[in-house]
Formats: sequence, C-alpha cells, structure tokens
Amino acid sequence: MSGIEGHQIHVRTQVLVVGSGAGGATTAALLAEAGFDVLIVEEGPWVDQDTVTPFSLDQMDRQYRSGGVTVALGLPSIAYTEGRCAGGGTEVNSGLYFRPPLDVVERWRRDFRIDGLDVDELESIADEVEQAINVTTVPGKPTPASEILRRGAAALNWRHSEIPRWMKYPAGGDAVTGKRQSMTRTYLPRAFAAGARMLVETRVDRLVDNGLNVTAHVTYGDGTGRMPGGAITAAHVFVCGGAIQTPALLQRSGMRSHIGRTLAVHPTVKLTAKFADEVNVPDDVPVHQVKEFAPDLSFGGSASHSGLVALALTDEWRTFSSAIEDWRRMSIYYAAITSEGRGWVQALPGFRDPLVTYRLSHRDREVLRSGLGRLALLTLEAGATEVYPSFRGAPVVRDRGDLATMQQRFAASKASVMTVHLCSTVPMGEHRDRCGADSFGKVHGADRVWVNDASLLPTAPGVNPQATVMAFAIRNARRFIEQQQSQQSHRSSGATQNGAQA
Ligand SMILES: Cc1cc2nc3c(=O)[nH]c(=O)nc-3n(C[C@H](O)[C@H](O)[C@H](O)COP(=O)(O)OP(=O)(O)OC[C@H]3O[C@@H](n4cnc5c(N)ncnc54)[C@H](O)[C@@H]3O)c2cc1C
Repeated sequence: MSGIEGHQIHVRTQVLVVGSGAGGATTAALLAEAGFDVLIVEEGPWVDQDTVTPFSLDQMDRQYRSGGVTVALGLPSIAYTEGRCAGGGTEVNSGLYFRPPLDVVERWRRDFRIDGLDVDELESIADEVEQAINVTTVPGKPTPASEILRRGAAALNWRHSEIPRWMKYPAGGDAVTGKRQSMTRTYLPRAFAAGARMLVETRVDRLVDNGLNVTAHVTYGDGTGRMPGGAITAAHVFVCGGAIQTPALLQRSGMRSHIGRTLAVHPTVKLTAKFADEVNVPDDVPVHQVKEFAPDLSFGGSASHSGLVALALTDEWRTFSSAIEDWRRMSIYYAAITSEGRGWVQALPGFRDPLVTYRLSHRDREVLRSGLGRLALLTLEAGATEVYPSFRGAPVVRDRGDLATMQQRFAASKASVMTVHLCSTVPMGEHRDRCGADSFGKVHGADRVWVNDASLLPTAPGVNPQATVMAFAIRNARRFIEQQQSQQSHRSSGATQNGAQA
C-alpha cells in the first residue's frame, strides 16, 4: 500500500480495481490469487482500525465521505453515509452479517434474467466468506442496549435474534472487545500477499476505452485540495466504488444506459429511549434485530454516543433538549423498511459529486409511520420511561396512551430519515430494459469494464447487504477468471497448432 508522490503518474496493469470496499477488496484478492497483475485504486486514506474509535465523530471525519454529511434530495430528503477509506464501508459499519437471502436471489434471477445464477454456489461462497471474516456471535452477555431489543421483542412475542458479526474477540473478552474483520484485516492483506498493489488517496475521475485497453484518469491528494494526477492503463477495469460513486464514474465515462436510475435503499426512522439504569454503550451497536414484520420492516439499534444522542434529539430540540443530561441512560433505535421507492444518481458536468435524489412511495411513508409506532411500543415494553421520536413536532412518549398522538403527528416529511444501505444503481442481468450490466457484472455495451459491488444487486435485499455484495463479487470474479483462463488456453492451443503446421 502506498500513496503517490510527485505530480504525474502513468502506470500499467492487467486489472484495475476501483475502490477497496466489500466488492473491490474481494475482487482484488481473488484475481491476484489467480495470478492476475492487479492494481487497486482507492480514493480515501488507509486508516489502521486501532487508531480510530469506532462510531466516533473522529471516525466520521476520517473514514466517511464528506464527514458523513451526504444527502439524497426529496420530500423528505434522506441522509446517507458511505465509507471513503481503504476497506470502504466495511471499516465503519456495524458488522452485522446476513447470508444472501435466497428467496430474494431467486426473484432477482427470474425478474432480471440473471444467467448462471446457482443458489448452491452462493451458499457455498457464503460458507467461505464466513470463515474468511470470522462471523461469530458475541461472547457472554449482550450489551444492555442490545438486551433491550431482545426483552421488548420477547415481551411482545415478536420474532427476534442475535445477528452474528465479522469480529474477533480476545480470549475472555466481552461484547465490546471485538475487532471488526473488515477488508483491511482480511481480503486486502490476502490481495497484497498475492502481489496486488494499491494506491490510496487516489480518485478515478474518468475511464476511456480505446478498444484495446482502458485508461483511467486519476487525481490524487488527501481530500483537502486535490492535485492533477495521471493515467493508469489496464486491460480490464472492475468498478467497485459503491452504489453512488460507481454509476457516477460510469456516467462521467459516457456509460449511461440503465446506470444510476434505480437506486434502492433501506430508509430508517429513529427514536431515543430513556431507561431507569445506564444502558448507553458509546463504542458499539446492539446486535439484536427484530424481524417479526420482515422483510417490509425490521428494528435494530444504532450507535449512541452522546453526540449522536444530541443529534437524535434535535428534531424537537425545544422540548427534548434537557433530556441530553441523561444520555448515559439513553440509547437510539431504528425502524428500517424495504422501500418501494427509487432514487437517481446523476453525475453533473463540472461538479465533483453526483446529484442524488430519492422518492419514497406512499406505502413507504405509511410503513415508516407504523414502524416508528411499533418500535416505540417495543421500547416501552422493554422498560423505557420516556421515548423521544426523531421528527419535528414529536411528543415525548411515556406510555401506550401516548402512542396514538405520536402516530397522528408523524409525517415522513418531518422526520430525520436516513440510510446506510445503498444498492441497485447498475442492476445485473440480461433484461436489457432494466439492467446496466450483464449476468456477471460486465457493463452492457462495454468490452473491458465490469461492475462488482452493491450497485449490481437488482433491488435492496431486505437484510444488511454486505454478505450479499461479497458473495456476488466472488461469484463474478471467479467467472471472469475462468473466462480469461479459457481464452488464454484457446490462444495457446491455437499458437501450438499454428506452430505445428509451420
Ligand atoms: C455506517 C454503515 C453501517 C453499515 N452497517 C452494515 C452492517 O452492519 N451489515 C452489512 O451487511 N452492511 C452494512 N453496511 C453496508 C455495507 O458496508 C455496504 O453494503 C458495503 O460496504 C458495500 O460495498 P461496496 O463494495 O459496494 O462499496 P464500499 O464498501 O462503500 O466501497 C467503495 C469504495 O470505493 C471507493 N471509491 C468510490 N469511488 C471511487 C473512485 N472514483 N476512485 C477511487 N475510489 C473510489 C470509496 O472511497 C470506498 O472506499 C453499513 C454501511 C455503513 C456506511
């Protein structure tokens, strides 16, 4: 791993991987291990996990795009966050692991006409990923904030469980001592061990395909002031910049057909619940989720250090502000929906960042309303003394009797809606009226450009998506390797025959 010194670079590589998150790191590792010459280019810096406090404002500043302040415009606008560092979202996320949901995958296969999609293969890749990133449950008791979800759901007889995470715990450690097995700890070291190179703080601005190879134009710098860079020439490019940046880069490079118009997310609304005892765990998130109403609606817990509690109270700060004094007795919970709405990512000439818009459907707004109501009920059942919903004009909810007022006053347009799950901007499949890439991620109409990240998932999967992103990335990388190897062996046998004839 290295940054770039000097002003102009011109590098050649067999395969360029743009982005080093869940899709990019796995792609790079598999290709390097198969003997390809791989160069990874990552816009963000390399940040050792031990040098940053998880879920802190410092982490947002150093490892999130735009310090975590990014928004999809609409009514309401939806705040979203993306990792922007070596390892991408895997460095900053909650590490909650769900195997690819096979019913959803089966629907994708049918509706988007994904050829060669074998669910047994995805299952076996999921087994492999679980080993590689050490998917496991917490040792000992869950944190108090997580136990609240379990207790509330159990009281209501709602389906719930502890979600395993990609973590390693020291012997005798407890729930908060885990080390996240993100890409900088797993697939990126594997890629380097197999000979892959990596440039950090280097952004790919544009791709130009001349028919023989692709040239990536890059700029570099630490984000405070970018400098002109140079060019990287590659025989093949895998774009793995995540579901916002990947379509933006493809559009800047002239690839626009079914690229960027079908952004799908899991929007969330949240509340802060106060309890009689201390429940706040500043450096970790709850591991329980409630799936009684899934896939339409799920409940879980968020990072809840004092700054984030203050932020969650700001929607109704006039009434809620004094509660911040008790932040140690408070924790933040969310209701996430599988949205019917869609968004649009548009690269604008002359602007560095794309314009992102999102439109919730009428049904989405109603599911958010009922979701917040049910979530408030769950926290009351778990023993909350006061509940502070995050929307303008919200009342403090103290008992079941207040829930109807809360539901009446709620409107999605008054709420702080946010999301961390972004997908589907370059859907994969052979359905040419819907898909930007083919069944294995090659951009339709391009010969040398592949997508291999969350953009490919045809719709939002209804569960935490990283494992699904990784499973598809590995499947597609393997297909690429097989194709290249078979072309190579055809070329060699052709050369031998010609040689024999000569
Ligand atoms: C706060 C948060 C919590 C989450 N929690 C969970 C969870 O608990 N479980 C789960 O399954 N999922 C979770 N996710 C989602 C998960 O992290 C993503 O689905 C996954 O990381 C997507 O992988 P990706 O490869 O598509 O993109 P990313 O992992 O986002 O990686 C993209 C990388 O590409 C780089 N890049 C972009 N454009 C360029 C360019 N032009 N040039 C060079 N580099 C570029 C970016 O800087 C970034 O590092 C969470 C996400 C966030 C942000």
